[in-house]
Amino acid sequence: MSKILIVEDEDAIADLERDYLELSDFQVEVCDNGDDGLARALEEDVDLVVLDLMLPGTDGFEVCRKIREKKDIPILMVSAKKDDIDKIRGLGLGADDYMTKPFSPSELVARVMAHLARYDRLVGAGVSKVQNDVVEIRGIRIDKTARRVFIDGVEKAFTTKEFDLLTYLAENPNRVFTKDELFREIWGMESIGDIATVTVHIKKIREKIEDDTANPKYIETIWGVGYRFKI
Ligand code: CA
Repeated sequence: MSKILIVEDEDAIADLERDYLELSDFQVEVCDNGDDGLARALEEDVDLVVLDLMLPGTDGFEVCRKIREKKDIPILMVSAKKDDIDKIRGLGLGADDYMTKPFSPSELVARVMAHLARYDRLVGAGVSKVQNDVVEIRGIRIDKTARRVFIDGVEKAFTTKEFDLLTYLAENPNRVFTKDELFREIWGMESIGDIATVTVHIKKIREKIEDDTANPKYIETIWGVGYRFKI
């Protein structure tokens, strides 16, 4: 059962949110201030946070930022003011979704479910906490715990650096990395070595994951820049 933490100082709203989420079989905890909410989000095994913006003590902006420093669980922010939602977006705090009060409780439940499902899909956290840490994107399944890779259900052998490079790209999809960035990240050297190594490894990875290496559907070459993992 997924655990939802509601951080909300208005009792009536918190009660309504809790009732609807509990009816949908979620385990729900409520905190009425930012400090307690932050502490619980960080210390407890929470799957998703519904976070009000204006709170006594640490406000929602700060709570969101601090949770995001430590955890990648979905954060759904709510505010009474449309302007605040724009501000949250602008600050890039890492919230996954935003809702303006008043919202319908069923809309809240729908969004909570969608974000939990998306989170499970992306990082393989979810139903059971003992399961391996898995990254799954379309036909690729990377089991980080076992360091095994499956393409459409078929296991392929990867060297250590190929595995690290593929995993890093897949965990940061839709982001363009230069060869220098990838070299520093995976090989951990600032100046020694040759960034052509990256090109060679990308070629080997493609031979294992792509049906047609001339038209890669996973790792895209951004000419003159580097590479991007398409999601
Ligand atoms: Ca409030």
